[in-house]
Amino acid sequence: MRLGIMGAMQEEVSQILSHVSEIEREARGMREYVSGQLQGKSVTVAFSRCGKVAASSTATTLIERFGVDFLVFTGVAGAVDRTLNVGDIVVADTLIQHDMDVSALGLERFEVPLLGVSHFDVEQRLVGAALRAAETYLARNLSDDVGADALAEFHIIDPQVTKGTIASGDQFVTDDRTTQALRDHLPGLKCVEMEGAAVAQVAYEYGIPCVVLRTISDKADHSATVDFPRFVARAASHFTCGSVLRLLDELDSIAD
Ligand code: SAH
Repeated sequence: MRLGIMGAMQEEVSQILSHVSEIEREARGMREYVSGQLQGKSVTVAFSRCGKVAASSTATTLIERFGVDFLVFTGVAGAVDRTLNVGDIVVADTLIQHDMDVSALGLERFEVPLLGVSHFDVEQRLVGAALRAAETYLARNLSDDVGADALAEFHIIDPQVTKGTIASGDQFVTDDRTTQALRDHLPGLKCVEMEGAAVAQVAYEYGIPCVVLRTISDKADHSATVDFPRFVARAASHFTCGSVLRLLDELDSIAD
């Protein structure tokens, strides 16, 4: 097995990269792919840049060029579910492209043309492994990693882990009306971001597993333009790295 580990921003993969050994680097299509060993596993790590096209191109290169047969996407997201707070972690059990709409031609809203699919589901045992990984990280490592000052700054008191729908689209959502429309169209939606469902579609088309873990950086509302950059600058790398390292442990326990 070779794991492809992706994040959309440098801050989301930088700390993971610091744990990779036996490193080989290769540049392709304006990305750098870093292959090596991470906790005894063969990995290729890539910073994909933001958006669905950037993420799917990176995911495809990971599969085609580096032989990756398992994709993990880690990063931050805006909360759509009102019960979520900054610092909570969402594990996708299904992903959807919220800006896909060919309903004018008779398709279901969100259905990907010619694929006949709108939701990209994650295997339940992988969802379970990612939930346990995130819970372990928050319980055992978060306070040492992030520090009391930063936790207080983001009002992170008792961060939660939850599973549910993650929606992706090429839009940074900061407007309450858009967020409300997402709630209305996608009941049960947890959070919104810009890459996960694109990577999940690539994984689906290649028939390989894909896990998406997102830490809430903002509430996808008028305050997101302030909350998001602060969280990315001070805290995101700890959450993304910590939960992925714990996920690698969990994958051992569910291996066939
Ligand atoms: N910092 C980048 C742009 C970041 S785009 C630059 O300046 O070039 C926002 C990133 O965070 C995306 O990768 C997206 O997946 C995630 N994200 C966090 N909050 C979001 C929100 N409210 N809406 C959409 N994406 C969000």
